[in-house]
Amino acid sequence: MNINCDVSCDVIMDLVAVYKDGFASDDTRNLVRTHLRACPDCRQLYAGYHVAEGIRPADCPPPAASIAPDYSALARHMHRKHMLSTAAMLSVIAVSSAVGVWSIIRLVTGDED
Ligand SMILES: [Zn+2]
Repeated sequence: MNINCDVSCDVIMDLVAVYKDGFASDDTRNLVRTHLRACPDCRQLYAGYHVAEGIRPADCPPPAASIAPDYSALARHMHRKHMLSTAAMLSVIAVSSAVGVWSIIRLVTGDED
């Protein structure tokens, strides 16, 4: 089926990955090719897609030392956060247990003010 319809540039950019990977149907390939021939904006984005695809991790410079994460500080922060949440949970359990015991004692002794 060959339906001529206008599609937005956003739709074409969604389809470009499928088109580029070779998984597009004949109709999608024709649609993308037709649009790319007619639309300079999408042609430019498509050209950028090729450039970005060629970038290898080895081509990227390592992060500057000033922005490298301090993993030991992160580990200390996470440990402190874990300990605080554990202490809060134990406090809730202790208070709940105390209230339960107090209620049982009042029930057994018949002390109901
Ligand atoms: Zn376009």
